[in-house]
Amino acid sequence: GDLLGLDNLVANTTYLKAQQIDRKELRKRRLSLTLPKLKKTSALQAAEGERYESLCEQQPIGRKLFQQFLLTSNDQYAAAAEFLDELSKWSFTEDEKREEAKQTILAKFCQPQSTTFLSYFTEEDAETCKDLSVLDEVILDHLREATREFLKGRPFSEYLKSQFFYRFLQWKEYERQMITDKYFYEFRTLGKGGFGEVCAVQVKHTGQMYACKKLDKRRLKKKGGERMALVEKQILEKVNSLFIVNLAYAYNSRHHLCLVMDLMTGGDLRFHIYDLGKRGIRMERVVYYTAQITSGLLHLHNMGIVYRDMKPENVLLDGKGQCRLSDLGLAVELSKGKMICQKAGTTGYMAPEVLKQEYYRYSVDWWSLGCSIYEMVAARLPFRDFREKVQNDEVTRRTLEDECKFEHKSFDAPTKDIISRFLKKRVARRFGCQGDDPRSHEFFNSINFHRLEAGLLEAPWVPKPDVVYAKDADEFKDSSDIKDVKFDTKDEKFFREFSTGAVSVQWQKEMIDSGVFDELNSATVIQRDRETAWK
Ligand code: ADP
Ligand code: MG
Ligand code: MG
Repeated sequence: GDLLGLDNLVANTTYLKAQQIDRKELRKRRLSLTLPKLKKTSALQAAEGERYESLCEQQPIGRKLFQQFLLTSNDQYAAAAEFLDELSKWSFTEDEKREEAKQTILAKFCQPQSTTFLSYFTEEDAETCKDLSVLDEVILDHLREATREFLKGRPFSEYLKSQFFYRFLQWKEYERQMITDKYFYEFRTLGKGGFGEVCAVQVKHTGQMYACKKLDKRRLKKKGGERMALVEKQILEKVNSLFIVNLAYAYNSRHHLCLVMDLMTGGDLRFHIYDLGKRGIRMERVVYYTAQITSGLLHLHNMGIVYRDMKPENVLLDGKGQCRLSDLGLAVELSKGKMICQKAGTTGYMAPEVLKQEYYRYSVDWWSLGCSIYEMVAARLPFRDFREKVQNDEVTRRTLEDECKFEHKSFDAPTKDIISRFLKKRVARRFGCQGDDPRSHEFFNSINFHRLEAGLLEAPWVPKPDVVYAKDADEFKDSSDIKDVKFDTKDEKFFREFSTGAVSVQWQKEMIDSGVFDELNSATVIQRDRETAWK
């Protein structure tokens, strides 16, 4: 009943405005925020069994506090911290400046006459540095390892007794807070799937925007989707790639299980193929997206995970125009050497071995990628025309028997070649399935994968900041409500198992990026005096 689309306009405006939130306004929202006091026992328990890698490297807040500890302890520790910092910067320097930058680092830290010389380097380390035949990466990796070994010893055990570590435990306590609906503001719906909708949300006290995938508990139970939801959550939590969406929170509300993920403001690739006027995506973009998707798939496969739902609708663009895989609801983790025989996927994208109910592994993702490249270029599927009314059986028959045709004018030779190789009906002949690396295909000639995988290759197209790349909000109106479902104690137990709250790395990153970390840390300055350490 909203003929002028006014509701949608308002929904879009509030959503876009939330993304430009004012820093001052945010400070006001969190004036009352303080870090919890610790009970010694709970704090100690939390730290038990945690290793150096997790405490001082992987967790962003842990890393920061360990660094602050090193910088304020003594010159030697400070130099070691500075050295690691410069090394990580060095790994991103451009090729032309690498050699010079390396020499500067070596002079500063590896020459005994320098004031920042790292005296724990052995003579052997020094010899390695002088040997010109050794590759840059190898030398610096070697020195990085030597530094880590040093830090894992006395500095680490001193850190565990310091005020900085006490502060870290306070943050961990805070991180473990219960997450509910009240933690977020909610904005418009961005998409819809089988078990519910995805909407934009904002964390009240940090202003961080996310997407929240709300899975309807009743629908999950009725359709037996609980296991799938849990697998999706567990896999998202485990993967850490530039090309797969990150999970930040998992919690449950009265009616939903909620997955809070990176907000991908550029929309999904299906929307870009069909809903933005001219159908299809221009070639330069197709190559770039396919490169990122390929890196994402390889990352999953290296972890033993088959994605099984590769299609443009599940590939999302962020604000910079880079893409990530999302929707790991059909993904499955295989133990070493195992295969699986289970029909899963979307009609039109499923590989012959899936349709024939044979055993398969990663091959199915390369087939679906072939279909997806085809669709990005031609705005139709290889075995199904756009909006063609056709039975699933017929799509299956064509997939098993027909050759893929390239009638659209945009197909060039390398594109036809890579698609044909991905669409080989026999797994043994298919590209990506015989220990070959798809990244080496001439289709990717314009892509420097080294830079791409470091996140340094700019996107050929960037979303406009004032456009919402999704269908109008009222097109996602809720379909039939399910009422006749009751939950028992087993269900409740499952909901709790799902609701693990904040995901450490993402949450800590949010605290740092939003300034909350600095604000709360400077509110009560850490004492420099290590005599008064807490233990
Ligand atoms: P389903 O498993 O039900 O298919 P998806 O996870 O694919 O659900 O989400 C459905 C749609 O919601 C996507 O196609 C996309 O348009 C939108 N969407 C999902 N996740 C995000 C996100 N992180 N950011 C922005 N939009 C999203
Ligand atoms: Mg989906
Ligand atoms: Mg799904």
